[in-house]
Amino acid sequence: MIAPPIESGIAQLRNLVEAADVIVPFTGAGISTECGIPDFRSPGGLWTKYQPIPFKAFIASADMRSESWRRRFAMDPQFSTARPGCGHLALASLHRLGKIPAVITQNIDNLHQASGFADDNVVELHGNTTYATCLDCARRYELAWVRERFEAAGNAPDCVACGGHIKTATISFGQAMPEDAMQRAEELSRACDLFLAIGSSLVVWPAAGFPLVAKRSGARLIIINRDPTDFDDVADLVVRADIGRILKPFITH
Ligand SMILES: [Zn+2]
Repeated sequence: MIAPPIESGIAQLRNLVEAADVIVPFTGAGISTECGIPDFRSPGGLWTKYQPIPFKAFIASADMRSESWRRRFAMDPQFSTARPGCGHLALASLHRLGKIPAVITQNIDNLHQASGFADDNVVELHGNTTYATCLDCARRYELAWVRERFEAAGNAPDCVACGGHIKTATISFGQAMPEDAMQRAEELSRACDLFLAIGSSLVVWPAAGFPLVAKRSGARLIIINRDPTDFDDVADLVVRADIGRILKPFITH
């Protein structure tokens, strides 16, 4: 469908949200840009300047592990100071009203949790960069702990329990998608009556298949994004503007 003018789009969005019983949001980078988290994939984004380090290279090379950690620490001012934006707060409001059981996200910034969702109610398809885990035994490590040792020794520490490699809890290129999260996302997509694709260009498969799963299961599909997506044609409503501006009216305190 063709995006209506913004005010009319927000009014239609409100009607659909009010009529829905079970809303499942699927969020991408666009919901966090107003919080100062860059969209790594966008033109001029981090990934156009630095080649992402594939999972295989991280495992194979101590130098790559150190480089990966140096990049993560360089981004820390952005991640550690970021606070939820209007989009996150609007979804948290609808969660409190009982409309949203859980949110599916491609983001790794922990901002849905910071807005009031419990960990269990955030389905992270690409993991979380605000803490680290051992790749072998899954023991959790805080970034400050890793950084202290990295700066003292000049390279990344290994797991104190098993000697495995410690990595941010994100899913790297070439790393298997998290099966539990993928399955939960699919179940949520099937069970909702309104699916909100928010701030995602919907190009990263297999994650981008969830809007279609929802649509085929009978849900309405709304796409909220600054730019057009390949799925606009099959959506029931497309609202095209900055996420914060569109969702701000849904914040309740
Ligand atoms: Zn371990």
